[in-house]
Formats: sequence, C-alpha cells, structure tokens
Amino acid sequence: MELAKRLLLFNEPETLRMAKLGRELRAQGIDIVDLSLGEPDFDTPEHIKEAAKKAIDDNWSHYTPVAGYLDLREAVCAKLKRDNRLEYTPDQIIVSTGAKHSLANAVLAVINPGDEVIIPTPFWVTYEALVQLAEGVVRRIPGSIDHSYKITPQQLEEAITPKTRLFMFSSPCNPSGAVYSRDELQGLAEVFRKHPNVLVISDEIYEYINYNNCMESIAQFAWMKDRTIVINGLSKGFAMTGWRLGYLAAPKEIAKACEKLQGQFTSGTNAITQRAAITALTAPLDATKAMVAEFARRRTRVLELMAGIPGFRFVEPDGAFYAFPCVDAYFGKTDGETEINNADDLSMYLLTKAHVSTVTGSAFGDKQCLRLSFANSMENIEKGFARIREALAKLK
Ligand code: PMP
Repeated sequence: MELAKRLLLFNEPETLRMAKLGRELRAQGIDIVDLSLGEPDFDTPEHIKEAAKKAIDDNWSHYTPVAGYLDLREAVCAKLKRDNRLEYTPDQIIVSTGAKHSLANAVLAVINPGDEVIIPTPFWVTYEALVQLAEGVVRRIPGSIDHSYKITPQQLEEAITPKTRLFMFSSPCNPSGAVYSRDELQGLAEVFRKHPNVLVISDEIYEYINYNNCMESIAQFAWMKDRTIVINGLSKGFAMTGWRLGYLAAPKEIAKACEKLQGQFTSGTNAITQRAAITALTAPLDATKAMVAEFARRRTRVLELMAGIPGFRFVEPDGAFYAFPCVDAYFGKTDGETEINNADDLSMYLLTKAHVSTVTGSAFGDKQCLRLSFANSMENIEKGFARIREALAKLK
C-alpha cells in the first residue's frame, strides 16, 4: 500500500511507544512499575464530573461552534485575567480537542515550508513532529543542566536567522520541569523585540503544577502579546486528559486561521467536555491545589531517592511531574549481557531487567537523560526507584 509521503515527515511519539511496550509486558503478567506516565494519576474532581452529567441531562448534544461555546471562551478570558493578568477577548480564543490539537492548529496556521522554528531542548515530543508536518525546519537550542535547562538571551539571539518564524517552548517544561521566572522571560522578550517577525508559542499547560508558586507568561510583555500564542488546557491541572480540551489565546488573525483549519478537521470539540470546562475554569481551584500538594510531596521523595543513586546528575524540577536525571555516567557499562551506550539503551534495560518503564531523553531531544514521572503512587515510586537502583548497581 502506498501511503502519503507526509507520513514520512515525522515519527510516532516515543512516549506513547514506551507506554505501549510497558502494556505489552504487563499483558504477559509481568509486574511493571510505570514511571513513564504523562498524566496525573488522579480522578477528575467531582464538581466537574457533576457539570458534565448535568450537561448530558440538559441535552448539550448538538454540534458546537467551531471555536468553542461563547460562554466557555468568556470563561477562558476570565481565567487568563485571573491567573495570568492577560486581557483577551473571546474572538481571540479557540477551544480544541486537547492542547495538542491547539498546538497543531497554531503551527499549521503560521508555518510555511522552509520556515525555521527554534525549539530549546529538551522539548515535548510533539513540537518537532508538528513543525516537520508543516514542512518547517527545526533549529534546536541545546539546553544544559548547568543552566537548569533554560536558555539564555544570548543563545536565543544566536539561533535567530532571517528565516526564523517561530519560537516554541513550554514553561513549566515537559520533560525538564524548568520554569522561567519573570526576569528570565523578560530577557528572552528583549531579544524578540529586535526581531519583530518571530512569533512565539508559549505552552503553559503545566501552569498550576509548579512548586514555587511562580507562573509567568511571556505574553505579559506589551510588545510580545501581539505575536504570542498562549497554549493551555485542562488535561494536567484538572486531571482531565481523556476529556480532551485545550485552548489557545492569540492575535485575532491567528485565532481566525486556527478556526478555519479546525472547521475542516474536527469542528468544535465535544459539547459535554466544553460545558464541564466552564465549571473547571470558573470554580475555586481547591481540588487542583490538593493534587499539586501531593505532587510536591512525591517530588521531595523522588529527589531524595535520586540523590541516593550513584551517577545521576539532576536539577530540581520547579514544575510539572517529572524528574529528568542525566544518566551518562552509565554509558559504556554492561551487566555482562546488555551494553548501555545511550539513554535509549538504559531505558530499555530498565524496562526489560528492572521492569520499570521510563522514557528515554532522546524522545525529547536530549540523549543523556531519562524522564521519570512521579504521576504515580508513593508506593510505586518507592518500588520503582528501588528496582532502578538495584539494576543500575549491576552495570560495571
Ligand atoms: N504540551 C505539553 C508540554 C504536554 O506535556 C502535553 C501532554 N503530555 C500537551 C501539551 C498536550 O496536552 P493535551 O493534548 O492532553 O491537552
């Protein structure tokens, strides 16, 4: 069967591949500890579920406006004002089937073949694939552990060329957990000020899951707002990954372009999810705060456990629910059977020998690291790290 060449432009996400492998081993009856999860292990808060049940009973069952219900877009605007001090009008908001879909709309709306897109590493897998699908050219800026995986204004300046059209990043970052402070964002914004043709996608989906109570958006700077596309959604902060709701806030022209794309692909997202989303965005955030407090407790423990593993080098994640240790101390070692040459090998070794699933850093553009998720119970975290420690000790 000859399929479209476009399928060769990008790969299946490595994160999903590992999750699939883990599931296959589990189906064989093997007890796998899953530290590869990219979603909260909590249930959706009750008040949001109730809103969805009511929406079903109230017959919210018809096609929805392509951009999302107006009252939902108003709720998004109110949220952006409340949490981020950002002023938007509903015609600047497009609601989509997950933040992934919002990102796809945004990239496809602004990237022409040959346009350069700067992405700091490590980055969330899908960014690169979307740019490739749009036939743009990815220019990576290598993040370094010495700078807590945040790029400097100088690195940004050096990466910009006359062909640069877009800069794309997440803060809090999946996978590194890096969170840019206001000053750090201002440093980058000053560089963009000199390059008015460059747009920015600011992926803020982990905004609530941060451990320093610091959430800043690059869109807050007056000269950035008209060229920044803010991406957010309900998946992480409200434990609603399966509900599929993301949104973007953008200059009107870009929002219109995204609406046009979405109008031919998916139309408006699920009606019940949209009604529930209004409740999620407008109600007090108590359930979210309780979830984040539990992530914080696990994070503290994970940092202790990692400190006890020889050869792991890491920075404390300020946000999200991942640890991202650099594991290159194990490269070139073997347990007598399997030789470890890179993070892919180590991730596979941990899966097959320690029965712990992790994600190789190369999925995120960093070949030295592993992503270990703490979106799992404390019990499983203890068990997973004990197994990792034991398996690593066998590598000589
Ligand atoms: N951005 C980042 C950085 C993510 O980690 C994820 C989910 N793993 C998404 C966007 C997409 O979220 P969703 O499509 O579930 O809203």
